[in-house]
Amino acid sequence: MNQDKITIVVPCYNEEEVLQIFMQEIMDTQEKLPEALLEVLFVNDGSTDNTLEGIKQLHAQYPTHVSYLSFSRNFGKEAAMIAGLEHARGDYIAVMDADLQDPPEMLIDMYQWIVDEGYDVVATARNTRAGEPPIRSFFARMFYKLNNKIADVHLEEGARDYRMMTRQVVNEVIRLTERNRFSKGLFSWVGFDVKYLEYKNVERVAGTTSWSFWGLFDYAIDGLVTFSGAPLSLASFVGFVTFLVSILMGFYIVVRTLIFGDPTPGWPSLAVLILGMSGLQLLGLGIIGKYIEKIFIETKQRPLYVLKEKELTKEAQ
Ligand code: UDP
Ligand code: MG
Repeated sequence: MNQDKITIVVPCYNEEEVLQIFMQEIMDTQEKLPEALLEVLFVNDGSTDNTLEGIKQLHAQYPTHVSYLSFSRNFGKEAAMIAGLEHARGDYIAVMDADLQDPPEMLIDMYQWIVDEGYDVVATARNTRAGEPPIRSFFARMFYKLNNKIADVHLEEGARDYRMMTRQVVNEVIRLTERNRFSKGLFSWVGFDVKYLEYKNVERVAGTTSWSFWGLFDYAIDGLVTFSGAPLSLASFVGFVTFLVSILMGFYIVVRTLIFGDPTPGWPSLAVLILGMSGLQLLGLGIIGKYIEKIFIETKQRPLYVLKEKELTKEAQ
């Protein structure tokens, strides 16, 4: 029997404390999943502690289950993820955090949803945000709401990066060569049949999160800007409204001056001028913005479509 291979891409940044426990849990899962070979592909994202040594030790310990890549410096989780996806050789590919916040035994469920139920992607979403500062949860929720309103990709609320995909899906994801990668959006952009599994948030087993509040904020803005031109349209909109208001105000002032005279000479015309000009400028900025948006979309060079199946007659091939 041909055994399936599942490559699990694990970005690691200063995770020396968790590596051993992590691998232990993976091996426990392996025992419960004899149909597939689990291969962990660690991506050391320029850790400053002994993560790389730890990974090498695991590689020596489990040569068939552990491979690794190591960056020359810290390039960030997005970069580590794409590097892993590009180098993964499995029939199915999973992405998982090293800190065991993503329960490894879910890999079994994921594999079954794909193999037995025919899904292309099994993704995960947390159904609670327990153990997280409330202010962080609040902003996270706002982010998903806003994104799903204005961006062209839908993001599942509470979605994690933890997921399993078929070879075909991963091939499409790595075909997206844009430099600014927001993988939550990219995974959603490629489409396919996605099953969401929910799970409870768990604390990391050791170490600390490398996300600061501002880091997350920045990440959220990145996501919005990468998949939506709405912020650019805002300038046009505000500019247009300001301009309209200036015209109405102009009329009002002319009529008022005709009836009541002009108590402060010069003020009404100045106010109307400032309002009118700044409105026009904003509108102009918005129009330039729209062109920049088009350039932005072109430079990303995303494929125009993604095929899932193909069947052509002989002549057409
Ligand atoms: N990570 C990484 N590069 C970074 C930051 C984080 O590869 O610059 C990895 C980290 O080792 C972990 C995963 O990304 O495996 C998620 O990080 P973390 O647990 O800090 O994020 P959270 O779970 O709080 O979202
Ligand atoms: Mg974590």
